[in-house]
Parts: sequence; C-alpha cells; structure tokens
Amino acid sequence: MQFDFDNKQRKEILEIVFEKLENYYSSTQDFKTNPDLNINKIRESLLTTDLVNGIKPEKAIQHVTNGLETFSVHTPHPKYFGLFNPRSNYAGIIADLITATYNPQLAAWSHAPFAVEVEELIIREFANKFGYDKNADGVFTTGGAEANLTAMLCALNHKYQNFAKDGVFGLDKKPVVFCSAEAHHSIQKAAKVVGIGYNLVKSIPITDELKLDTEILQQKLNELDSSIYAPLMIIGTAGTTGTGTIDELNQLSSICKKNNIWFHVDAAYGGGAILSQDLKPQLTGIEKSDSITFDAHKWMSVPMGTSIFLTSRNDILGKTFRITTEYMPKEADKLTITEPFTHSIQWSRRFIGLKVYLSLLFYGWQGYEQTINHQAKMGQYLKNQLIENGWKIKNNTDLPVVCFAKSEFETDSNFPKEILDKVLAKGKSWLSVYPINGIPTFRACITNYNTTEKEIDELINELNIEFTNYLK
Ligand SMILES: *Cc1c(COP(=O)(O)O)cnc(C)c1O
Repeated sequence: MQFDFDNKQRKEILEIVFEKLENYYSSTQDFKTNPDLNINKIRESLLTTDLVNGIKPEKAIQHVTNGLETFSVHTPHPKYFGLFNPRSNYAGIIADLITATYNPQLAAWSHAPFAVEVEELIIREFANKFGYDKNADGVFTTGGAEANLTAMLCALNHKYQNFAKDGVFGLDKKPVVFCSAEAHHSIQKAAKVVGIGYNLVKSIPITDELKLDTEILQQKLNELDSSIYAPLMIIGTAGTTGTGTIDELNQLSSICKKNNIWFHVDAAYGGGAILSQDLKPQLTGIEKSDSITFDAHKWMSVPMGTSIFLTSRNDILGKTFRITTEYMPKEADKLTITEPFTHSIQWSRRFIGLKVYLSLLFYGWQGYEQTINHQAKMGQYLKNQLIENGWKIKNNTDLPVVCFAKSEFETDSNFPKEILDKVLAKGKSWLSVYPINGIPTFRACITNYNTTEKEIDELINELNIEFTNYLK
C-alpha cells in the first residue's frame, strides 16, 4: 500500500477530477435544481464502496461526484433563486485547492507569515470600505454564525472587565441583547453558546417597512428593570435573511451611543452592497458600529466557510481571546504582529482569506462592483416582471431579494405552498416560501452572478403556469 502517489498517478487523478468539475461547472444549468430526497437510495449508494480496502481513485471520484450531482440542491444553478448560497467563482475554487495543498497553519504568525499578512490586508481593506478608521481590527471566521458569536463575546468582554476570568458567574445583572424579529437565529444560538441563554435575546417587532421598530426598542429599553437587567448589545441587520431589509443603522447607532451599548451590524448578506457605489449609501451608519459581520461566501461568491468579523475597537479581540501557552511558536515574539490564535475562536486555522484575496487578484474590486450591480439589476428586473404579470411585491429593498404574492390569495396559506411544491417537483427552478408577519409569501433571490433575464423570464413563466393550474 502506497500512501502517496507518483507524478503520473497524481496527474491522472487531477485530470479525472478536472473533467468531472469542468462538466459540472459548464453545464450546471442542465441539472435538475433539486434532488429526490430518497434517503434509502442515498444510503444504499454509500454501501457500494469498500472502506476496509479502499477502491480505485477513479472509482472514488466518480462515486462522490455522482452522489453530489444526484443528491444536492444545485446552488450553483442559474435558476437557484434561493437562500444566499452563491455559485462559487473560479478564483475561490482554485484558492481552496491551493490552500489544501500548502496547508499553511494560521494559528501562529511565524508559521504562515505570508498567509496571515494576506488576511490582515483584506481585513484592513474591508474595514476601510465599511468606513472604519485605520485602528480597526478583525478576523476571518468560518461563517456569519461564528462572526455573530464573536461579536457577542466581544460585547461581553467590553462591558465586563472580568468576563474572561469569571464568565457569567461574575455578572451582577443579566445582559440583554436586542435585535429585530427578522434578525438571524444565529443570534439566539450565540446566546446559548456564551451561556447567557436565548431568553435574554429580545426580538423587537418590525415596522410596516419590515425594519426593526426603533420606537418600540426605545420603549423596551426604558422599561427594562435595571435592578435585574443591563442592556448589552443592539444588533441591526443589514439585509435580513427573509426579506433583504436593512434596519435604520443611524438611529440604532444613536440609541447605542446614548445608552453606552455595543452596536453590532449583521451584514452577512447585505454587506456586499458596500462594493457598489450605487448601493453603498444603503449602508450609511454602519461606520459608526462597534462591530460588523460580513459573509464573503454570500454576495462575494466564494466557496463556503468564508466570513469576516470586523471591529472598530482595536483592543477587544485580544481582550476576548488572548491566552498564553508554552508550546506555541515564539519566533515572532519581537515583531509587532498579532498572533492569530489570540484573536479568534479558532486555534488551528485554515487559510480562509485566500478565497477572497485570489478573487480580488482575478477580478479586482471593479469586477466585484460590476457583478454586484448586475445582480441588483436582475433583482429589479425580476420585480418589474412580476408586477407586469400580476404579482404583488411584499418587501421593499434595493438588494435583489424579492418577496411576492397574489393579492386574491394572500389569506390562503395553502396557495404558496401548493404552487411551490409543483415548481420544485419539476426541478427547473428553486425558490422558497417565507412568512412575512405570519403570511406565507414567495421569496426569490438573485444569488448567482450568471442569472440573466432569460432565467428570470423562465421562472415567472413556471409560476404563471402553476397559477393558472391552481385556478382550474
Ligand atoms: C447567512 C446569515 C447568517 C449566518 O451566516 P452563516 O455564514 O450561515 O453562518 C447570519 N446573519 C444573516 C443576516 C445571514 O444572512
């Protein structure tokens, strides 16, 4: 048994992989958007291999790529109008391959100085784009959930000097987190993980514009029993998961300043707007925040596992995560650098940032501005075509997330579900149904840089056909 392969074998394997990936990448649109969820078939296919002796690499590659092709929702499909899951750009794919091969260890600066400095450069660039000053800090995370968790830990360590040492047992009052009812549930999860519990996350109702109602927020703050509770953080969402709505960031910032509360902006999806001169004004106020979550694996179309946490408070990541050990390399002790493992939830760290860096090297900020503008334009086109075809738009955002319904069926909760089931059964397009104020509406998002008017016309056609059938 040979654990490594020789040059000829490696080339053969890569060629097989290349052919498979190339076929998928160039003909993604020919796949059924979503699979039959046949659990028995999937489990049976996993029993056809031999984990004791192994199988030929060619067979193994066929096995996993066929499995993924048959049993996945094809998020890279141009008619995937789904959640914020992009088609990976080619730079990001190559970056993952390079990272896996060199496998740099980004826990310690001295082990991977080039990689760590690349990540720091990208952090500085984004901090600057979001309007933070040059003292800003940040770290790459695996996703928005880890970035939001990081934000909550930072808020706790900022407010309570001994939090790192004593944890929740040192708190004299219960810390309260405020966010809108439309905020992402990773915030509740973060409250579970940090040990304050999700009962302390207060969901503020939304306005008719689907934004966090700042008047109710102010009222809830006034009503807080200060003998038991202390406000910890207010989270504004810039691009809600359901409706793509951006909260009133300036107002939230003033409330935070006045009451000395940590202001976090969850811009996991909508943060991409900062890369477009046209869309950027939508995010005004984000520069006054204490911290920001931004998922590069959403609107920047890099593969999964790529998010950024930014903070305008230079000292807080160190305060939150610093730890000293004897066994970590000390070669860089005399340099003015930051040891990444002292700034992050993670210890061993993958070179996550290369996916963003290589993308910028391939396409530049200019390329990004173009693709983001294109997607926003396609969102507008989708909206216009829906209206023209008698659908009613239920949300109001410049981000390409469109929620829609039929006026005459708005109280018929069965209607969207039945139409959706029919569309998904055909597997030509993928979209979802999302409840706005409890009323189910269709939700279609442009998450793919390759989606054009043609795919949008086809989607609307499919919806119109199912609507006509429903009326029969
Ligand atoms: C996607 C999303 C998250 C969670 O991010 P992950 O990358 O999935 O961990 C958090 N907040 C918002 C607003 C999101 O859209």
